[in-house]
Amino acid sequence: MDIKKQYINGQWVDAISGNTREIINPYNQEVIAVVAEGDEQDSEKAIAAAREAFDHGEWPHTSATERAKIVNKIADLIERDQEELAKLESLDTGKTLEESRWDMEDIAGVFRYYAELADKDGGQIINSPIPNSISKVVKEPVGVCGQITPWNYPLLQASWKLAPALVTGNTLIIKPSEITPLTHIKIFELIEEAGVPKGVANLVLGPGNTVGAVLSNHKDVDLISFTGGIETGKTIMQAASHNMKKIALELGGKNPNVIFADADLEVAIDQALNAVFFHAGQICSAGTRIIVEESIHNTLVDALTERVKKIKLGNGFDETTQMGPLISQEHLNKVEKYVEKGIEEGATVAVGGRRPEDAELQNGFFYLPTILTNCTTDMSVVQDEAFGPVITVEKFETEEEAMKLANDSIYGLSGGVWTKDIAKAERCVAKMRMGTVWINDFNIYFPHAPWGGYKQSGIGRELGVMGLEEYQETKHVFQNLKPETINWF
Ligand code: NAD
Repeated sequence: MDIKKQYINGQWVDAISGNTREIINPYNQEVIAVVAEGDEQDSEKAIAAAREAFDHGEWPHTSATERAKIVNKIADLIERDQEELAKLESLDTGKTLEESRWDMEDIAGVFRYYAELADKDGGQIINSPIPNSISKVVKEPVGVCGQITPWNYPLLQASWKLAPALVTGNTLIIKPSEITPLTHIKIFELIEEAGVPKGVANLVLGPGNTVGAVLSNHKDVDLISFTGGIETGKTIMQAASHNMKKIALELGGKNPNVIFADADLEVAIDQALNAVFFHAGQICSAGTRIIVEESIHNTLVDALTERVKKIKLGNGFDETTQMGPLISQEHLNKVEKYVEKGIEEGATVAVGGRRPEDAELQNGFFYLPTILTNCTTDMSVVQDEAFGPVITVEKFETEEEAMKLANDSIYGLSGGVWTKDIAKAERCVAKMRMGTVWINDFNIYFPHAPWGGYKQSGIGRELGVMGLEEYQETKHVFQNLKPETINWF
């Protein structure tokens, strides 16, 4: 197998150490690629290239309109190679091909959205209180950006970082999760083809504790944008403090899905499944905590259980598959432990709660879609992000109690509320401490709306105008049109 390379300073390169890593398909553990395994040395080299391109290159000074043309071209190329990208993503993550196809559409849309936004804000003239002066506010790129992405939505998460960083004139080094680098490698072929100058965008492959740590620590990196788990986020935040980097952290979620008795139950039940079981529950915004009004608890659980029993697990490339495997053996063990601990703590398994027994699934990291009832907020399976196909169900009697349960979490990424009573929905929204709240829907996001967390779910926002502004510094320029001496001293 050819070794897939890193992209540093406009060249495709092996790791300086010569090290490589095998990438495996989580459906059957077959080796699907061998990639360069970079480390501290490769990171240093990429940072030096990005620094040079920012400090002495043209890119930060190119007009936003010119940069937008290139970013638009990347969107064209993603659309051209959409099927190839989708297949790579499914091979690498195990998710169904249909899901990966949606991801690729979204990803092209993100590049397109930021290309269109790039030259719309030309700064601002301030009404200066000083006579004979001009006061203006301009936006400038932050500089060299380190970007670190997770394994669950590899290219989607990368697009939220690459597109705004590029259109605003930054230079960057991105590091994918070491276990899912394939679509990052492919998109760098497209970035090169679109004409991004050398040194502007760099790809380093390798683990978090080497490549990631250098990016977060390095004095020549001005901003670190990270998507991943809370504990890693804390480590990165500390490392970033050494040179006071700007930080953008998109962390985990344990998202409540609050269902009132007056909801349209048929829709709420259907969407409660989508809210969790896409990509086997490995979604930061998965609605894993169902909080349901007591009077409809049994109806809801029975209906969900019947539907869950029919979810077909399998190879993401088989059109009849509805749910693929988890990402790795380690992750499968983690999800399994959370369910076991939940049961020990008093939860009841309504459905699932174990690995499947089908012969076809034994080589993959599969876990059955699971519903746990009799759950309470003190259980670790309710509090921690298990990050698998596991729903916990809690009951409430009053609106106040529902909101207390919804907010009883260190996370604050997203949540949903289902009711036909719009005033009640708005009261709930005002109380829910989360970056995104859906009314009568779940897991909807698009490039135009900001995405990010309250509480320990993160700092800053991606997507929308705010996602662009993360990559910009604000400069106030004051010009005296009639300079005069003051003679104070
Ligand atoms: P993770 O924190 O283990 O790893 C994420 C990335 O950080 C990987 O590239 C990893 O190599 C790197 N990393 C690990 N240790 C590092 C270190 N010490 N310094 C620098 N980088 C380091 O997370 P994961 O398991 O890959 O992803 C799952 C997590 O991501 C979940 O918590 C999920 O909720 C979260 N996530 C959040 C969002 C969001 O938008 N908020 C989106 C997707 C995933």
